Amino acid sequence: MKPRKTRKIKIGSLTIGGDSPVAVQSMTATRTQDLEATAKQIKILEEAGADVIRIAVDSDKDVEALKILRSNSKAVFSVDLQENYKLAPLVAPLVNKIRYNPGHLYHLEKNKTIREKVEFIVQAAKEHECAIRIGVNCGSIDPDYKERFAHDELEGMVQCAVDHCAMLDELNFVDYCVSLKDSDSQKVIEANKRFSELRPDVPLHLGVTEAGLPPEGVIKTRIAFEQLISKGIGDTIRVSLTLPDDEKGQEIDVGRDILKDIDEGRFRSVPENFLEGLNIIACPSCSRVENGKFVELAQDVRALTKYAEKYKLTIAVMGCRVNGPGETDDADLGLWCGPTHVNLKEGPKTLGSFTYDEILGQLKSEVDRLISEKFNEPVAK
Ligand code: SF4
Repeated sequence: MKPRKTRKIKIGSLTIGGDSPVAVQSMTATRTQDLEATAKQIKILEEAGADVIRIAVDSDKDVEALKILRSNSKAVFSVDLQENYKLAPLVAPLVNKIRYNPGHLYHLEKNKTIREKVEFIVQAAKEHECAIRIGVNCGSIDPDYKERFAHDELEGMVQCAVDHCAMLDELNFVDYCVSLKDSDSQKVIEANKRFSELRPDVPLHLGVTEAGLPPEGVIKTRIAFEQLISKGIGDTIRVSLTLPDDEKGQEIDVGRDILKDIDEGRFRSVPENFLEGLNIIACPSCSRVENGKFVELAQDVRALTKYAEKYKLTIAVMGCRVNGPGETDDADLGLWCGPTHVNLKEGPKTLGSFTYDEILGQLKSEVDRLISEKFNEPVAK
């Protein structure tokens, strides 16, 4: 095990980085404005021992809900700004860390530069002693970097993170960390290795996004964490699993189990042929899910496609219209959920929109078609 050598940063009462223990965090999956459900999620995560609890905020009403949630919990809170960076000064007094996604900054106020927007967030964080996470995500890369690094998307993610670090450095802001997430464990490993070579001082938040349902989601996450943490890379982790709201505490339990195994030198061998066949990725769900049937749908997709296990296909199941359309682009078949309909895609192409009752039958037809087209085999019954 290589020692971790990043600088230490403060997130409220918590310190991450350097030789501090690797912090384990998670995120509420409920609608932030549903106070009862979100307070229950916070309690579940606190009881599971979460070091940081992240809550998504996208509107003034979410900020009002956050005020109430804050007054009822002493947990270390992080806020996910999603697309509305302008909320930073309103949320900063209520939380200990602000996560912004560089790929979402272009949405609002197109007349302002990215640097001006970053400065705005940093100003709010400085005033209220919040840490910041620069959270780069494969499904929402800044369009500028996506274009410039079209030949190597991972490099685009890494360079985007490095450039944002430089902006924060120039603004004399120190308490920040970075994440580079993808749903593919190998890409997570590669991106984080490249970044840590360029910025070995910056603490890293590790995660395999949309890892999906357990047990496959746990294995994908374990592969990435084992490879990185054993090399001294990674200061805080988030395990993203597709789980019913009441079972979200499992993300913390799984994270702690993986860390304990790594610490004690127990590296789990990955099952033979793992991911050589059908790969189902699913998002962990969050406050943006518009239909609670999403988790059940992900489970049904796995059960339905069991007959296709030996075929190398990727099916992505995403919970919302905000990130779902982009994050299904690379899958052979993608499903993203709206309030009443599920949208079905093949790569970037939309195949149609179906009710929750219709979608499984439609998906089965498409899987059968791909098996016969790509593998030139009659459909397995
Ligand atoms: S795809 Fe949508 S619902 Fe799923 S975690 Fe991402 S933002 Fe949340």
